[in-house]
Amino acid sequence: MATTKEELTDSRFQIADLGSNDYEFETLALHAGTPPDPTTGAMLTPIYQTTTYRQEAVGRDKGFTYSRSGNPTVAALERRLAALEGAEFCSCYATGLAATASLCLALLRAGDRVVVSQAVYGGTVRLFQQILEPFGVEADFVDTSDEETLKATLNEKPTRFLFIETPANPTLRLTDIKLAARLAKEAETLLVVDNTLLTPALQRPFDLGADIVLHSTTKFIEGHNATVGGALITRDAELHERLAFTRNAIGAIQSPFPAWLTLQGVKTLPMRMARHSESALQIARFLEGHEQVTKVIYPGLESFPQLELAQRQQRTGGALIAFEVKGGVEAGIRLMNSVHLCALAENLGAAETIITHPASMTHADVPPEQRQAAGITDGLVRLSVGLENPLDLIADLAQALRQ
Ligand code: PLP
Repeated sequence: MATTKEELTDSRFQIADLGSNDYEFETLALHAGTPPDPTTGAMLTPIYQTTTYRQEAVGRDKGFTYSRSGNPTVAALERRLAALEGAEFCSCYATGLAATASLCLALLRAGDRVVVSQAVYGGTVRLFQQILEPFGVEADFVDTSDEETLKATLNEKPTRFLFIETPANPTLRLTDIKLAARLAKEAETLLVVDNTLLTPALQRPFDLGADIVLHSTTKFIEGHNATVGGALITRDAELHERLAFTRNAIGAIQSPFPAWLTLQGVKTLPMRMARHSESALQIARFLEGHEQVTKVIYPGLESFPQLELAQRQQRTGGALIAFEVKGGVEAGIRLMNSVHLCALAENLGAAETIITHPASMTHADVPPEQRQAAGITDGLVRLSVGLENPLDLIADLAQALRQ
């Protein structure tokens, strides 16, 4: 298993400095934000399963009053995630979408407009189009990977925030974060980056100019298919105050038990991301060489159209592969129905390998024309490469491709 910075990094990629505060990333993943319990010495932050907190006197508390506003286990996770992203503030949510919804309720008012990457998680599209648009919020989905399009869209009219997902789920299209941050600044708007697919182990949005980083911690951060959760991270105290106020007002906070599980899962994030990435590259190469496969999208392959950007902005190609097989939709579905070791399921970022059909599963609520425009073809297969031995995964895919 990879243990050094060099081993953790695909050698063709630029080594980003993962250090933060006084410690390296791997150390922060284990220790940040969780000193031993002062009364018992317990190494692990306990699960503070409590609704309320006894107050010393009227107006005098120990920092917690009611678990909708804050909870010590959740606060420990918030300190850990903020440290991992190289930021000061974090608020955790019941799910990734609860984080996105909270962000929108905190920042948007009727008449506001947001600009969103054309290819994003389907639930994000549904939230903007089916929940927020009826409240008078305009969401423009554009190809944020194209500089001219992005610049022109931001110049058209005032924008409350620019929301990008890079790599995008499931097309793996990249947006240049540094460029997006510059254009957002010129347009006097905030840049929000959904960093779910790479995590701070592989991509550092704040170093590239982001204002807010969003996570579905359900995915790689917790990493074991055991919880749902979300996080909003920022370096701006005022912005954090608004987010925390809104989270309390709408009741979207994470519960202590999933927060505790996430604290355990995130300890191995750097090692898992390295292993996911190594295996994904190996499998992407296998798929690319297979006669039944017509197209493979993986940000670590030489054939990846934005490889130069990937190498500049990411530490590896990540854990996700998108591909299409000969015979189109029907053949793709047959493949997904024929795998044994890979699980046909609606998640990504877990220890177990998951295979998904975005058009009928994760992105089913995105209108077909919009899916096509974003490059989410009906035949596209998404593979979230897990931690199994890659040879077993290749054998499983090979037998399924023979079907
Ligand atoms: N962002 C991305 C990139 C996702 O893939 C997902 C879920 O798949 C979400 C956000 C939403 O997260 P959750 O499912 O935890 O609500």
